[in-house]
Amino acid sequence: MTTPQDLSPHGLAELRQRYRLERERRVRPDGAAQYRDADAEFGYYAADPYTTGPDEREPVRDTVDVAVIGGGFGGILAGAHTRRQGVERIRIVERGGDFGGTWYWNRYPGVHCDIESHVYLPMLDETGYVPEWKYAPGDEIRRHAVRIARKSGLYADALLSTGVTSLTWDEASGTWIVATDRGDAFRATYVINATGTLTDPKLPGIPGIEDFKGHTFHTSRWDYGYTGGTPEGGMTGLADKRVGIVGTGATGIQVIPMLAEDAAHLYVFQRTPSTVDVRANRRTTAQDVGADDEGWARRRRENYLRIVSGEHAERDLVADRWTESAGLLEKLLPSFRREGDREAFEAAYEAADAAKMNELRARVDRTVTDPETARKLKPWYRYACKRPTFSDLYYPAFNRDDVTLIDTADTHGIERVTEHGVTVGGVTYELDCLIFATGFNVGTSGVLSGKLPVHGRDGVQLLERWARRGPRTLHGFTTSGFPNLIQMGSLQNASSVNFTHILDEQAVHAAALIAAAEAGDALIEPSPEAEDAWIAVLAEGAPDHEWFHAECTPGYYNREGRGRPNGPSAYPHGAVAFHELLGRWRDESMGEVLRARTGPSRARAARPPHRPHEH
Ligand code: NDP
Repeated sequence: MTTPQDLSPHGLAELRQRYRLERERRVRPDGAAQYRDADAEFGYYAADPYTTGPDEREPVRDTVDVAVIGGGFGGILAGAHTRRQGVERIRIVERGGDFGGTWYWNRYPGVHCDIESHVYLPMLDETGYVPEWKYAPGDEIRRHAVRIARKSGLYADALLSTGVTSLTWDEASGTWIVATDRGDAFRATYVINATGTLTDPKLPGIPGIEDFKGHTFHTSRWDYGYTGGTPEGGMTGLADKRVGIVGTGATGIQVIPMLAEDAAHLYVFQRTPSTVDVRANRRTTAQDVGADDEGWARRRRENYLRIVSGEHAERDLVADRWTESAGLLEKLLPSFRREGDREAFEAAYEAADAAKMNELRARVDRTVTDPETARKLKPWYRYACKRPTFSDLYYPAFNRDDVTLIDTADTHGIERVTEHGVTVGGVTYELDCLIFATGFNVGTSGVLSGKLPVHGRDGVQLLERWARRGPRTLHGFTTSGFPNLIQMGSLQNASSVNFTHILDEQAVHAAALIAAAEAGDALIEPSPEAEDAWIAVLAEGAPDHEWFHAECTPGYYNREGRGRPNGPSAYPHGAVAFHELLGRWRDESMGEVLRARTGPSRARAARPPHRPHEH
């Protein structure tokens, strides 16, 4: 058995073999098809447990300047930056009963953001808000989303509890017709699509899952009516309940200690253990925020992005386990550029990875008293094969008599759900309540899944246009044949673990495109040649970390063990370089996407005066 000290060639070879075996027993032939949508008809979640609405209202048929699809941080930031450019009528359409996106839906007990709040919460400089904790609870984050929406006057025209069902370009008027599930069909000169990347909850397709007669829900639709309590705990409704939870990803890690506290008995059904690193949450200090220091949040965020992107930084301002592990994470990020002797680099990297993973496995042994439970909780794969998680409460929860860990790896997950419980290895665990912390459909929401059909010029569907050669965009934002449509998210651009920072930069870019089109009375539309040139840039320096994912234990990072999709999907030089590139392009080349309007001139069109007011 490899010990924390054993980083010899023999020790590393043994570890490699162990990882391979662990991977093999987890890869399933059905890959991502093992999951199913958490459809409401199976009763697995209420459509929106957090609103009493939606209130009755007449369908909307008017015309706005900008329609933003999605009221999460992406949409809110798009609205805020577009407003700063002087645009008047901005309509955010959001499925939830309020703004907040992922932080609207995910209110499970223990919900926090595991990225430092001072870099995660956007517009801290602009709003003057200082987060209370180094790692903020979900409710504080949701309230900040609402704060930005209010300050930017985004409630006035918003359509909440409303889902967009299609987008259709109308050549004659030079506007998009936005149709919704509430019967709306309004027009917008510009559309910003900010529908998010992890929005649709998924469930494992376990045989019998619809037969369970007890209470059940997905963590992103927490049923406090049943459990009692709040995200801070106090779930008195569980005091006499046998509760099962499926899933030990970033969500499960946060919720399990809270359930352990309140349930009569908790059964944790684990398939792959996460890496659970030190959290060390604490109150914000004056040193964190540089009290009178203008622009402190922006500088801290830039510093964080540099470090987690593997770029050089003089100081590490955040100084947590994300930044400490950035040398390893960097390997996974598009910024990775191999220099010098490849073999020497790989060997050094593997040894550093093993040291990190040994340290994390040793943490389990130090904390969990029962050796058999500790054995099951140890992760056997390379660091960041699965998304890293952080908690100081998770492992101690397994020292309680009223918590049982059921490892399901040998049976490829749970065998069956019955009317009264869950069967693993031939043993049925009787349950009153079964909670799914099984995550979300990844990268398939909105436009890319086809759930939101987009008809561009000449009625051409966006997905049909992309069917043969894959998505084609300029910088991930715009596509020829689909004028004035701007996409946000993770497509042909650069990303980071601090996704709100990425969204903020994207929103700045979207707003600048719209401002330029307004100033020039023009349409935003790249040429096919500009798209080809961008695809060539992506392909040229495509990072070679595919081998890493190919050897990883299955999960959504590697399409359940099948590696990354073919074709370049990210800017190879990382987020820092991408943001610089966008800035230069805005200064020097933005004119290349502006073309003559087809519809009536925006400058001459009569536009009714409009006063956005605060909510
Ligand atoms: P994940 O998809 O990460 O995890 C799903 C869990 O369900 C995994 O443990 C998976 O096991 C398990 N599972 C799936 N099917 C079965 C089965 N048949 N039997 C047993 N177990 C099963 O979902 P999360 O909700 O944890 O995270 C979703 C996203 O949200 C992630 O990107 C995460 O980073 C993000 N998030 C971020 C937070 C933050 O603080 N920034 C907090 C919470 C979530 P297996 O690994 O074997 O597939």
